[in-house]
Amino acid sequence: MAEAVRGRFAPSPSGRMHLGNLWSCLLAWLAARSAGGEIVLRLEDLDPDRCRREYCDQIMRDLEWLGLDWDGQPVYQSERTASYAAAFRELEGQGLIYPCFCTRAERLAASAPHQSDGTAVYNGRCARLTAEERAELSKSRRPAWRVRVPEKTITFCDLLQKNYREDLKRECGDFILRRSDGVFAYQLAVVVDDAIMGVNQVVRGRDLLSSTPRQLWLQDRLGLPHPEYGHLPLLLAPDGRRLAKRDRDLELGRLQEEYTAPQLVGLLAHAARLTDRPEAATPQELLPLFSWEKLPKENIEAPR
Ligand code: GLU
Repeated sequence: MAEAVRGRFAPSPSGRMHLGNLWSCLLAWLAARSAGGEIVLRLEDLDPDRCRREYCDQIMRDLEWLGLDWDGQPVYQSERTASYAAAFRELEGQGLIYPCFCTRAERLAASAPHQSDGTAVYNGRCARLTAEERAELSKSRRPAWRVRVPEKTITFCDLLQKNYREDLKRECGDFILRRSDGVFAYQLAVVVDDAIMGVNQVVRGRDLLSSTPRQLWLQDRLGLPHPEYGHLPLLLAPDGRRLAKRDRDLELGRLQEEYTAPQLVGLLAHAARLTDRPEAATPQELLPLFSWEKLPKENIEAPR
């Protein structure tokens, strides 16, 4: 018998949710619940400069308002540092971690053109430092910590985007696992938490598609299972940009002035091609209509 689906919501509490976040949450919920599965909630509040507890509370109220429930207690990444530190030590023990002393400007200068998502590919400058050079640099700077990636192409089959491949060394490069201020990177935390929380289905925006090869590789290094992945098209602003927190009129607080929860859910379900018309619906009512085959693959304009 197939394993029961266990999905997750993984919002970053750096502000109020916007339409794009609701879209991911609704579809992650429908994917898990329509398969009779569970869904857990993790608040990705790793970055103390950007995340606040009041935003976490607001996100939970907003999910409830929409009619999206979750199983068990919410998990806060800010409380899970010990698990990330253990995974970090494990990779360190495998000889894969090295300190990087480059400043942001040096990192950019030391980068090959570009990764598919627009971030720079680090050329491994600090991987080649001698012990003396490291000791010297440590006197004046606190390093960030990178993981050394192998010459390896990672391939996987996405539930929606189908076959995806990435040459880790050339298209991604050695990436940061811990910032110079000690904060563990998203890429490490997400892998550790998905495994500990028993998540076997990750549904999220296509902006994270290019992070998936890194995460699959880290899972292998840490002996963790691979979840299945479904990367959703992004909702775009009318000028073609992807929605961001600064698109205030698509923030949930504003949307609530205009729409009821079923109206908003109906609008998103129609954009997801689950319904013929943008009629009001509850998430529950959409359960029998959900299927991966119906969803669009390409980014679409945000419904209004
Ligand atoms: N916390 C991320 C975000 O809100 C999502 C991370 C993930 O789904 O892996 O964009």
